[in-house]
Amino acid sequence: MTYESAGEPPRIVVVGSGFAGFECARRLSRSLRGTGARVIMVSPNDYMLYTPLLPEVAGGILDARFVTVALSDAMPAVELVRGAVDSVDLDKQTVHVTDCEEGEEEVSWDRLVFTPGSVTRLFDIPGLLEHGRGLKTPAEALYFRDQLLTQLELASRDTDPRESQARRTFVVVGASYAGTELIAQLRALADKAAARQHLDPAAVRFLLLDTADTVMPEVGEKLGAKVLDVLSSRGIDVRLETTLTELSENSVTLSDGTVVPTRTVAWVTGVAANPLVETLGLPTEKGRLKVGADLSVEGHPGVFAGGDAAAVPDPRHSGSITPPTAQHAVRQGRTLARNVAASLGIGEAKPYAHRDMGLVVDLGPGFAVANPLGIQLSGLPAKAVTRLYHLFAMPSPVNRWAVGLAYLTDLLFDRPLVSIGLVAESPSQFAASEGVGARN
Ligand SMILES: Cc1cc2nc3c(=O)[nH]c(=O)nc-3n(C[C@H](O)[C@H](O)[C@H](O)COP(=O)(O)OP(=O)(O)OC[C@H]3O[C@@H](n4cnc5c(N)ncnc54)[C@H](O)[C@@H]3O)c2cc1C
Repeated sequence: MTYESAGEPPRIVVVGSGFAGFECARRLSRSLRGTGARVIMVSPNDYMLYTPLLPEVAGGILDARFVTVALSDAMPAVELVRGAVDSVDLDKQTVHVTDCEEGEEEVSWDRLVFTPGSVTRLFDIPGLLEHGRGLKTPAEALYFRDQLLTQLELASRDTDPRESQARRTFVVVGASYAGTELIAQLRALADKAAARQHLDPAAVRFLLLDTADTVMPEVGEKLGAKVLDVLSSRGIDVRLETTLTELSENSVTLSDGTVVPTRTVAWVTGVAANPLVETLGLPTEKGRLKVGADLSVEGHPGVFAGGDAAAVPDPRHSGSITPPTAQHAVRQGRTLARNVAASLGIGEAKPYAHRDMGLVVDLGPGFAVANPLGIQLSGLPAKAVTRLYHLFAMPSPVNRWAVGLAYLTDLLFDRPLVSIGLVAESPSQFAASEGVGARN
């Protein structure tokens, strides 16, 4: 075993506990066991969030805890520093961390693994920061569930018909897989709530907008057409080549000039690299930190990056970088662990390689689309594949168990109509939940 610094055992600091950081830290703590090396994870959260199931949290199928994997259980040997990295000193080899009470700390590193992920991509649209909500955190997912149930309840007692219609109208902007899954889950929750109120489900309006001319381009034309059919059959009004130009407390203006009264807007239009990337002053591509095929940062030995924050060359599409997906982030986490260990003299470094496993998209009651290994599926077979895939991919037995039981419960009973009321408006706003777009 060869460590370049005689003296202190090396300190590996991993920034972020998402798919890439979690996988890297967990593997490193195993491969470096017994060497004295310290793996230190810096993250504002004490969990790894399994984001693909957030739409089901919003739809009331899953509890938010079921999709959060406890770091202390999953990787007990990794030290957790709870806080956000706000700057990195590449010369002094330290990160500056601020905790939730503004306490500050410098953490030094011999190896830095930079995986702070991405944030919702925002645009300069009047009212978006105040009245739109993203879908990247448990607070945001819980907001949608609470908001939908509360608005339907208030609408049933509102004597002003315009106000009542605004409360019963839900707008989702972004028709790629996350936005489409969200609207399908919210529709199912609204149908159940409407039945409880003896209300025609058609009285609850759902609008799905996208600037593109198709829904879910990720699944291809054939499955995309099936998705459109299902959305229409559920009364979801899909408006393509349309976006928002303004949001206010009780209405939105569409790009064709139509004003739609609503009190709920989901903004799920894609992601931008974490703002921490640009503070590094290093080369970027599409806002993501440039790395080599081995995920190291050129000119800075000991610095590695992966996941949504990094521009990783795609070995299957020369000249492109890998898209920001959990599939890539997990695999890059593995490569990071391997190559960081190799830089400490354990094992051999390898370039990043991957095989596309396809996509699974759950669209609420009895329907999903999936293209595992290129095989196109829809309906119940896709639903089974989708649910099994998530159970398999969930990186903790206790979460797998909880999600499995919730799926079983969903087969046997109606989804519960419960708004916990713990999520006030502000924790779900972009500034509080994702740390972006704060007004000065
Ligand atoms: C609703 C939704 C559904 C999705 N569904 C799918 C899907 O079905 N399949 C798929 O492949 N992908 C899916 N994705 C994409 C996937 O979630 C991301 O590509 C993946 O999370 C990226 O992993 P990551 O580790 O780079 O970042 P993340 O998982 O976002 O993790 C980033 C981590 O860094 C932490 N962090 C942020 N800032 C700081 C800071 N300053 N200091 C310290 N820590 C910080 C965060 O708290 C978090 O722990 C979905 C995303 C969403 C939002």
